[in-house]
Amino acid sequence: MQHQACPFCDPSIAAVAYAETEDSRAIYNRAPLVPGHSLVIPKRHITRLQDLGLGELAGLFSMVQRISPLLLAAYGCDGCDLSMQLGESAGQTVAHLHVHVVPRRLGDLPHDDWHAQLLDSALRPRLSADQIAQEVIRLRNLHQS
Ligand SMILES: [Zn+2]
Repeated sequence: MQHQACPFCDPSIAAVAYAETEDSRAIYNRAPLVPGHSLVIPKRHITRLQDLGLGELAGLFSMVQRISPLLLAAYGCDGCDLSMQLGESAGQTVAHLHVHVVPRRLGDLPHDDWHAQLLDSALRPRLSADQIAQEVIRLRNLHQS
């Protein structure tokens, strides 16, 4: 099921996807908090975690498991921040379930304000289509090797 106004259901999402399974994909964030900041999403338009089927749930988190070390290697990081906002009060701004996968290293972000930036993509600089394409190609190659 697709949702018309949803950016993650838009066909243009394929251009920023670098890993894909039958029911989930990893996409490069158009406004990354740090280099490598990705989102893992179910292909189906689902808003709430409890509406994922068990197979989709397993698929979603095995994608998280698969791309995390890939991002660490690609961006020279040794930690990974996983974050989900479930519901408007928790900061969910896109009504299509997504897991933020943020590769981290010591001192990369100030301790006090990065979470606000994670929640509001308008606070983060947006990459150009060319910049995103460069990262996506790099990660697709790493994912396939
Ligand atoms: Zn959607």
